[in-house]
Amino acid sequence: VSSLEPREHHRICVCVRKRPLNQRETTMKDLDIITIPSDNVVMVHESKQKVDLTRYLENQTFCFDHAFDDTASNELVYQFTAQPLVESIFRKGMATCFAYGQTGSGKTHTMGGAFSGRDQDCSKGIYALVARDVFLLLQTAAYEKLGLKVYGAFFEIYGGKVYDLLNLKKKLQVLEDGNQQVQVVGLQEQEVCCVEDVLNLVELGNSCRTSGQTSVNAHSSRSHAVFQIILKSGGKLHGKFSLVDLAGNERGADTAKANRKRQLEGAEINKSLLALKECIRALGQNKSHTPFRASKLTQVLRDSFIGQNSSTCMIATISPGMASCENTLNTLRYANRVKEL
Ligand code: ADP
Ligand code: MG
Repeated sequence: VSSLEPREHHRICVCVRKRPLNQRETTMKDLDIITIPSDNVVMVHESKQKVDLTRYLENQTFCFDHAFDDTASNELVYQFTAQPLVESIFRKGMATCFAYGQTGSGKTHTMGGAFSGRDQDCSKGIYALVARDVFLLLQTAAYEKLGLKVYGAFFEIYGGKVYDLLNLKKKLQVLEDGNQQVQVVGLQEQEVCCVEDVLNLVELGNSCRTSGQTSVNAHSSRSHAVFQIILKSGGKLHGKFSLVDLAGNERGADTAKANRKRQLEGAEINKSLLALKECIRALGQNKSHTPFRASKLTQVLRDSFIGQNSSTCMIATISPGMASCENTLNTLRYANRVKEL
């Protein structure tokens, strides 16, 4: 396939990021079963047992647009994923970046949102890095004259419902008009003038997201968080970058003891992640029908996907340990399907 051919209008980039073994895994003597032999290949070395009980390694190889090992910084990951899309929103484009993976694999660390804490990684995650470059571009000769204003919006999708994280978690309606334009009615869009303003919004949204929750991580693993940086000109939408920290993709490990609520949550998450995959694939293939309505997540992101000048990147985050092998393989297979045209 020649990369010099004119591409379909929707661009997709799929990358994988491996995190280091953590303290808990090291203490449990979990083994690192992931290698990144080159900058676009991920190998999983799964330990299997033969009938005679001897063990052997089953190696599986996956290729992506880029693969980052556990030494990669957020800045490096950003350079190959979201950064190339930033300028498109100044040219009336729509950009979307997803973090996809098992709970605990590094989605929030990468995006720089909830509970990474301002002093640690929040200020260096993809939210902050996109904001940094948006404000840099805003001051360049080419774009300064457009008189653009920058706004931030932050919402959560939980159980198929949308909640405004900048407005006390107010439940919002999603409406579709006759022209299939989707609107999240009443979503707060707050003007931001610098990176610091953006980080304040992220912090506000995160505190709102988790209030009343027993465990921050437990909640974030069951909801999608969407942070948007919006450019407007004369009050009208000019371009938008959506940064999505997806719900954990692990299948409910506790289904046996799971209550009805957990099961419904799990089903809703599965449905939305499946819909997301189908939509991205349909866009990549330039299919005439894209099943946006299949989930609230895809419905809400519809306008970002179908724009004339739209682009998507996905960062699939994986845990290195043998204990996470099944989830890791599921993540890699999903990411592979998204990428595959
Ligand atoms: P998720 O959002 O996918 O549930 P987190 O981003 O919260 O996962 O990551 C879980 C833990 O692992 C956090 O303590 C985080 O700081 C750490 N972590 C994740 N990715 C990395 C990385 N690439 N390098 C170092 N630590 C990481
Ligand atoms: Mg998280």
